[in-house]
Amino acid sequence: MKFGDFEISIIRESTFKLDGGAMFGVVPKALWANVASADAANRVELSCNLLFIQTPNGNVLIETGMGPRWSEKERARYDLKTLIDHNNVLESIGLSNTDVSAVVLSHLHFDHVGGACVDRDGKLSPTFPKAKYYTQKGELEFAYKANARAQASYREADFKTLLDNNMLIALEGDHEILPGIKVHVSGGHTSHHQIITFESNGNHGVYFGDIIPTQSHLPPPWVMGYDHYPLETCDIKSRWLATAANKNWLVVFDHEPGVPWGHVQAERSKFIWKPFARDSLAVV
Ligand SMILES: [Zn+2]
Repeated sequence: MKFGDFEISIIRESTFKLDGGAMFGVVPKALWANVASADAANRVELSCNLLFIQTPNGNVLIETGMGPRWSEKERARYDLKTLIDHNNVLESIGLSNTDVSAVVLSHLHFDHVGGACVDRDGKLSPTFPKAKYYTQKGELEFAYKANARAQASYREADFKTLLDNNMLIALEGDHEILPGIKVHVSGGHTSHHQIITFESNGNHGVYFGDIIPTQSHLPPPWVMGYDHYPLETCDIKSRWLATAANKNWLVVFDHEPGVPWGHVQAERSKFIWKPFARDSLAVV
């Protein structure tokens, strides 16, 4: 899709399922069951939606998804279905892994950085050999010292491999990755989670990461149980969604199982989702 001087595409990397109670935090099932249907194990359908942005100054991939490195037992636990070949992530748009110059990670949970590395000749190597990968320094530090509750969401090999290859840039605060592509430290989901914005020729867009994983999470109090700072997430959502609605920003949801991009409208105290057509996705 044309976006000013940029070309933007969604790559649906995988579908998976997580416990519905964990996905909706303190919201009772009697409410969330109206917007997300649960399977027999109480899991709701999710996906990993990567955003690929081609700019005149280089190509940026936002997030890497779950990746291919999962055992059969783990795949069954998450009902994980991998939809792409990680040796050729951009196949659906006719480009290759070497065409990526920057990879932006909202944070280092395994469903965001799991696709950062692949097994090549029995060795773990960065999936995008010519890219620099960007995360926040505070996120990286926390990933190494996460306590028992937070630890389960991190796999050290994902980011250690990037560090060993000198390909991980640990940012300290907000930063412009390439002209028009910026990261903003949000906190909320993790203390150094970052939201990504993209802007070209008067067009503005926002990739919320895990601050708003699906369109069902649009109401500010509907915050995931996984969040380390849920009250912060609620406030960030109110603030950023008001701006996105007022300025008609393009909005992207990282785990939305339906169409993950579109616009948000503010109607009285509610935010209403206006998705693009389904055929706007590179992989459907
Ligand atoms: Zn996630």
